Amino acid sequence: MTTQTAHEAPPAARRAPIVPSYVEDAWWTPSDDSRTTDVLDANTGEPVARFGSQGLDLAAMVAHARGTGQEELGKLTLHERALKLKELAMFLNERRQQLYEVSFGTGATKIDSMVDIDGGIGVLFTFSSKGRRELPNSNVVLDGPAEPLSKDGSFVGTHVYTRIPGVAAQINAFNFPVWGMLEKFAPAFIAGVPTIVKPATPTGHLTEACVRLMVDSGILPAGSLQLISGSARELLDVMDYRDMLSFTGSASTANSLKSHPNVIDGGVRFTAETDSLNAAILGPDAEPGTPEFDAFVKAVVTEMTVKAGQKCTAIRRTIVPKGREQAVVDAVSARIAQRVVVGDPRGEGTTMGALASLDQLRDVRGAVEAMLAAGGELAYGTLDAPVVRTAGGDDAVVPAGAFMSPLVLTWDDVDAEAVHSQEAFGPVTSVLGYEDVNDAVRLAARGAGSLVATVCTNDPETARALTVGIAGHHGRVHILNRETARSSTGHGSPVPHLVHGGPGRAGGGEELGGIRSVKHHMQRTALQGSPNLLTAVTGVWHAGADRVIAGSEAFGADPSNTHPFRKSLAELRVGDAFASDLRRVDLEDILAFAETTGDTFYAHTDAKAAEANPFFPGQVAHGYLLVSWAAGLFVEPAPGPVLANYGLENLRFITPVAAGDSVRVTLTAKKITPRVTDEYGEVAWDAVLHNQDGEIVANYDVLTLVEKEDTTYKNWA
Ligand code: NDP
Repeated sequence: MTTQTAHEAPPAARRAPIVPSYVEDAWWTPSDDSRTTDVLDANTGEPVARFGSQGLDLAAMVAHARGTGQEELGKLTLHERALKLKELAMFLNERRQQLYEVSFGTGATKIDSMVDIDGGIGVLFTFSSKGRRELPNSNVVLDGPAEPLSKDGSFVGTHVYTRIPGVAAQINAFNFPVWGMLEKFAPAFIAGVPTIVKPATPTGHLTEACVRLMVDSGILPAGSLQLISGSARELLDVMDYRDMLSFTGSASTANSLKSHPNVIDGGVRFTAETDSLNAAILGPDAEPGTPEFDAFVKAVVTEMTVKAGQKCTAIRRTIVPKGREQAVVDAVSARIAQRVVVGDPRGEGTTMGALASLDQLRDVRGAVEAMLAAGGELAYGTLDAPVVRTAGGDDAVVPAGAFMSPLVLTWDDVDAEAVHSQEAFGPVTSVLGYEDVNDAVRLAARGAGSLVATVCTNDPETARALTVGIAGHHGRVHILNRETARSSTGHGSPVPHLVHGGPGRAGGGEELGGIRSVKHHMQRTALQGSPNLLTAVTGVWHAGADRVIAGSEAFGADPSNTHPFRKSLAELRVGDAFASDLRRVDLEDILAFAETTGDTFYAHTDAKAAEANPFFPGQVAHGYLLVSWAAGLFVEPAPGPVLANYGLENLRFITPVAAGDSVRVTLTAKKITPRVTDEYGEVAWDAVLHNQDGEIVANYDVLTLVEKEDTTYKNWA
């Protein structure tokens, strides 16, 4: 039997219940409960949970995900799955207090829990809305435009994303038991890939509480989520190229997983986000007394104390202009002394909780001792057990709690290896002085790849030099100045819209980043074929594919076809099109348009000046005149299922149109996206303007909202 803390396991009578796993859509606990790991309350040392996964059939879990999970998720479109995430987020939001209660016992304060729990729920909301706004309502995502591969247009190429056919397994760290799961679950779920979560043991009971709520919500399709409570050392043994493993934790575990034969030879997709020695750089301009100096000090203290510094993004190296080290140490120390109350998060006034476990406390102390031995000096704080606020509101030393004082270290030798390689995963930062901007870049880069760095300056040139200098070593750069001091989401907070991950020591992986992370769960495949068959496969009309054309017989229409604007989404198909007749452009039209709009640019109004222009044959029509006319040529004006035109995309003017030329338009339904929450959806129309000689004058996409059923104006008189 192993124990999770430095203590002996509690006597049997005091042992906590075993935290179940969720396996093949049912709760599971090991039949042999003698080989379990105890987890203690981080603040009091009381037993709170016990973990055991002896006898868990990992192969069956993976098979269930690949079978039932894939099948059930595959019955839904990307939008339908995204909508479920919103329902789930609302369900969890109403019950988050239950999670807070568990979270306190992990050492997390209310604010820490908000970052973890509310932050995790926020990721679900963000992905739900981005998924429905930015992805098609289908299961095939186009990547980039079609490429012509033959002269006659009969053979074209494109790229598509479809979901990977296996399971998205996640092995997570102890510090964000809810957010860590949800930020990986959300994109996998939208992509249609089932998840197996393996949280870290010290806080896995909080993950289990969240999974229990998710299961009880009844919102998730069968097989879409499974949970391993306890260790899962053999998980990679049962995975193959169809699957992916997203790991968060220490670099050493990442390295051992990355070298598993099923990753090296078997092709399991592997991504890692590991600890890194993130930096914050104070610009030379940010003297004490400036808003930047204050914002910088605040950021350093926040990053030291939120989650008691147990954040992969925390500021480990505080890099400041030489000569300003003491001012920074003093300001950081003063802020800690004024604002930080270490203690049980349930105690009145506590602002920084315990580390996650006594093991973690021992590791952090050990790392700090190694740094002190390597030349670091303690400028603030003590390694002794601090006096802390108890749950009852008293101040006392609590040896059973994993409490630690915030520590600030200084270094005479800023190049000492230890400060750039030794991570103390707790409330610890080192202040280092730099000579000039290049030296600051050099020092930041000595972290050998980090998740995030803050650049704090109000000088544009310094901001540019520092950011460009360090960007290649970082996954994210947070630029802080007086304008963002209040609005910034903070150095240490990954946001779902932006990439989280970093090169080198940070693991080399990439998570989040909006829809990018959905695509991490998909395979990009090049497709080659005819426009008709690429249209059939992708659901998006490709130029050259068949069309059902209404409108002008002279331009390919069968006049018996219905104008596509008269069709609701129930009837409209990609390839439904309208072709107009030609309309002649006269000089009076151009001058009248110039007069009404005020756009009297010389190319439209001054024949002599226009002739000297290298691009125009002489006086030409405004591009916007032609686009406006195109709307007049293709519109079907009577009330009907088309509700609104909400924009144009990708507009290009190609051939100029002079007085005496004529233009016509062809409009083709290209992409149809019914909304899952509304009685209408989006239709993107391929619009092409030609002149009388068949040359392309302009092309663009027209975006409209169209009713699913023709209801609003059905019997309109
Ligand atoms: P570990 O790397 O030991 O553990 C992380 C996760 O990996 C846990 O879920 C753990 O499970 C699991 N794990 C460990 N070994 C294996 C294995 N061979 N096969 C499958 N799963 C495995 O990190 P810790 O949580 O112990 O933290 C140690 C250090 O990692 C910290 O001090 C810090 O430096 C760094 N860290 C980095 C984080 C980041 O976000 N990048 C976050 C947290 C920590 P189990 O609990 O069952 O052992």
